[in-house]
Amino acid sequence: PSITRGVTVEVPKVTWEDIGGLNDLKKKLQQAVEWPIKYASVFSRLGISPMRGILLYGPPGCSKTTLAKAAAHAAQASFFSLSGAELFSMYVGEGEALLRNTFRRARLAAPSIVFFDEADVVAAKRLRWEFKQQQYCWRKASGVFVLAATNRPHAIDAALVRPGRFDLVLFVQPPDLEGRYEILRVHTRNMRIGDDVDLKRIAKDTEHFTGAELEGLCREAGIVALREDISATVVCNRHFRTAKDSLKPALTKADVD
Ligand code: ATP
Repeated sequence: PSITRGVTVEVPKVTWEDIGGLNDLKKKLQQAVEWPIKYASVFSRLGISPMRGILLYGPPGCSKTTLAKAAAHAAQASFFSLSGAELFSMYVGEGEALLRNTFRRARLAAPSIVFFDEADVVAAKRLRWEFKQQQYCWRKASGVFVLAATNRPHAIDAALVRPGRFDLVLFVQPPDLEGRYEILRVHTRNMRIGDDVDLKRIAKDTEHFTGAELEGLCREAGIVALREDISATVVCNRHFRTAKDSLKPALTKADVD
């Protein structure tokens, strides 16, 4: 962690490899966030003005937050996180001060990423105004990149997403078959799983599961194994099956299509 005037700022430890699937999206974020920081001199030589902000939208539990952290890790950028719900619950003046403060700290600690979760919640009039002011400042400040996330893109004030404020609006889709397989691989890589565990099969059987739910499934399979035998040394297929039967995905077909 680097110290900026008494404030400890962390670069997240999550890497692109911790995220299963979503290869195109990862590439887009790499180019938009990582390249301008890593290859700043090339950008200025060619006169390319880097992007400043991206809005990620999609159902919960599909790695919007994790993508933002991985982008910060890859760019070795300081990571600041703001929650729309938290800002909204504060007195307007307090919320504004927090916004201003965060952007000031982000400028001092640049390169930085300010991650704005539940961006849709910031609908209070003055807070919205303040957010727009901050957007204006961040666009001028170099080295501060804004990633915003929402489950409900339609609820976002049109003024906040109009062209020129966010450079890109990207859909973070629920995982398809290949994605689910990759996610299962990520979350079993430190587990001792039996030879009878067929992750491709499990991926087929978990349609509509989000990344968060697949992570939960792997954890639950481990717990099932321990419940069966507290001195178990390996997690087998039947443990995954029992775990899966106890879980129901929150997404429906409509969310996926
Ligand atoms: P929310 O909208 O609820 O904030 P989110 O889209 O930001 O959700 P994350 O918080 O990034 O989702 O993901 C929740 C958890 O699910 C993470 O801890 C992560 O480990 C796991 N997860 C989600 N998607 C993936 C993925 N593609 N690969 C690996 N793990 C994933």
